Amino acid sequence: MEKLTIGISSCLLGNNVRYDGGHKWDRYITDTLGGYFEWVPVCPEVEYGLPVPREALRLIGDPANPRLVTVRTGVDHSDGMLKWAATKLKDLENDNLCGFIFKSRSPSSGISGIKVYTHSGMPSHRGTGIFGGAFMRHFPLIPVIDDGRLHDPQLRENFIERVFVYKRWKSFLTNNASVKDLISFHTEHKLLILSHSPKHLSSLGNLVANATRYDRKELFANYIQLLTEGIQLIATVKKNTNVLLHIAGYFKKLLSPDDRQELLEIIDRYHKKYVPLIVPIVIINHYVRKFDEPYLQKQYYLHPHPLEMMLRNHV
Ligand code: SF4
Repeated sequence: MEKLTIGISSCLLGNNVRYDGGHKWDRYITDTLGGYFEWVPVCPEVEYGLPVPREALRLIGDPANPRLVTVRTGVDHSDGMLKWAATKLKDLENDNLCGFIFKSRSPSSGISGIKVYTHSGMPSHRGTGIFGGAFMRHFPLIPVIDDGRLHDPQLRENFIERVFVYKRWKSFLTNNASVKDLISFHTEHKLLILSHSPKHLSSLGNLVANATRYDRKELFANYIQLLTEGIQLIATVKKNTNVLLHIAGYFKKLLSPDDRQELLEIIDRYHKKYVPLIVPIVIINHYVRKFDEPYLQKQYYLHPHPLEMMLRNHV
């Protein structure tokens, strides 16, 4: 498999770029995800020009628009960092990024919940790191996560699923896509979207059905905007169960009463959280192959990312 290009806070790869001369090496990132992703490391503080080691930084002031200052001497690096970020983000446009993993709790790299020391003296935890925030404003469609959330199985699966969807979308765009291609793209992602948001599936269906009302650029922009919003919502056990039951309907007339009962029992065990999602998915994939079911064969829901990543193996 061709590796996907993912941006990453440099210290998570084990690079000694932190203010104290250390790193925050994350073995899951390098040893497991490294098999599928190629990294573009970024350390905003070092690339902006600060030395290693250096005085620690923190966010102060208005949580919606904080300043980045050194903790002891109070030197304000906000404007310099934003200026550097503007050039860096332009460079990153050439890197074909499909996602970014940021370091949590960093005043430069963090993407949410960053501590801001307000003027009232009460710290707020609603800040965004200066570079993390600039990245999300510049690339609103690129999936992002931080290393803290990456260790939550549901959030990790959601992020990686979005990374693969985004990669397919980029490939779709580079092939001089037509409206007919969009219909195919949408059809192949229907059950995946349903597992995240029935409401977004319906809105996307309407958009595709009325495709001729838009010029192509506007149509594609609206489609990916809505799709991004929809698949950010977590595919819960309840939503997955609905999708699995929907799929089971395709085998109604093909399975023996015994096999059908067995399939429904397995879906019920998943629903009750006795078995992980991968269990009903493996059985369904077996029937999809056996009965040569053309619509289901194409559904990315049944193979959204490599099986070896084991993202659906948790209960
Ligand atoms: S959190 Fe960001 S700024 Fe801090 S060391 Fe890591 S990559 Fe550099």
